[in-house]
Amino acid sequence: MAHQLGSTLVGITKLNPDWVYKHTMRNRGIDVNEPLDVPEHWEYAIVVGTPMAWDPFYANPTYGSSRESYAKTRIASHRLAEFIKALGYAARPHTPAGDYDLMVVPIAIDAGLGEQGRHGVLVTPELGSNIRPAVVTTNIPMKTDKPISFGVEDFCRTCKICADQCPTGAISTEDKEEVRGYWRWQIDISKCHNFWYSNLGNVGCRLCLTSCPYSRKSSWLHRGVLKVSANDPTGLSHGVMTDLQERFYPAPDVEEYFIPSMGGSNASYRKPPRWLQADEYIDFSGGAK
Ligand code: SF4
Ligand code: SF4
Repeated sequence: MAHQLGSTLVGITKLNPDWVYKHTMRNRGIDVNEPLDVPEHWEYAIVVGTPMAWDPFYANPTYGSSRESYAKTRIASHRLAEFIKALGYAARPHTPAGDYDLMVVPIAIDAGLGEQGRHGVLVTPELGSNIRPAVVTTNIPMKTDKPISFGVEDFCRTCKICADQCPTGAISTEDKEEVRGYWRWQIDISKCHNFWYSNLGNVGCRLCLTSCPYSRKSSWLHRGVLKVSANDPTGLSHGVMTDLQERFYPAPDVEEYFIPSMGGSNASYRKPPRWLQADEYIDFSGGAK
């Protein structure tokens, strides 16, 4: 039903309470200083997600936008919650832009959608990191999915492309670290967020998602490369594939991603489609060209 209601990827897991925030988010009209008890009916988590349009996604950071797929995911999750409620069960959507009360990446991993990459977010076999997820918590009884492994963790150990492409150095090139009892790659959130708000573009960056070799349009070549990588116990193919990625997907120098007043040239990872290059057909100093 989640596919039918608009979601591209779907996974189901029992909700681990460790992934629920200790306090609720701001602006809810409830006391944010009171700890949030995990409601009993948040027994299961259904993770849904849709991709961003590929061309604007590749044109990050200046032209990319998450909002379109956040909107699609939000609609799919709300439809799904309403569907479950109509069956007589509790359901609560946790959606992008303001009302998540839980962390989505570990829940999506538990639900078998993918693995966590060095950039801290989800890498899926189908869409790489080109996915915007939401969660529906519910008590409708369901069979659950299992976490999957398709070689991302090993690949990330040698790859580090996202760390090299991150304009602010927010992504570590070191090994995983223990964070509140779990081993993960931890990014420097402050550095990342400061770039989001100091640069032009749609309040964001997403270069780490865009430059990740897993985030490619599906093709027989890409699917074949992923298969080799996932089934190579020696890891020897990883260096070759990272090298190929750098040859076939050359990127601007990292400094170029900044706005001119910060020493850059407002570069995009890939040239945006013409319909996004508004400065080519609109004279912003007055009137259409
Ligand atoms: S979104 Fe941009 S600034 Fe933030 S970690 Fe990714 S590449 Fe770095
Ligand atoms: S760019 Fe490389 S290191 Fe970063 S998440 Fe993707 S595969 Fe892992």
